[in-house]
Amino acid sequence: MTKRRKFKVVERRLGKEKAWGQCTPAEGLIELDTRLSAKRHCEVLLHEGIHLCFPEMGEKEVDRAGKLLRDIMWSQNYRRVLLQPNAKPPRIS
Ligand SMILES: [Zn+2]
Repeated sequence: MTKRRKFKVVERRLGKEKAWGQCTPAEGLIELDTRLSAKRHCEVLLHEGIHLCFPEMGEKEVDRAGKLLRDIMWSQNYRRVLLQPNAKPPRIS
């Protein structure tokens, strides 16, 4: 696992890249397409996060792990909370 602890998640249209997400481990950068559905967003974020943690891992394993983690998180009702800019996150247990 990489020692890097800083990361940044950016959302933008990734049409040219022909991908729903991409990760640049050396920069700690995760990019996600803005058009993802909630469940797909969860999966792609986890997928790219796995790439960031384990840059040497093969795409097939990353894909399998991302989908399983998504199913685990989704089954436990983890969802994304969308906030207005500068809003405080709500307190959730
Ligand atoms: Zn990938």
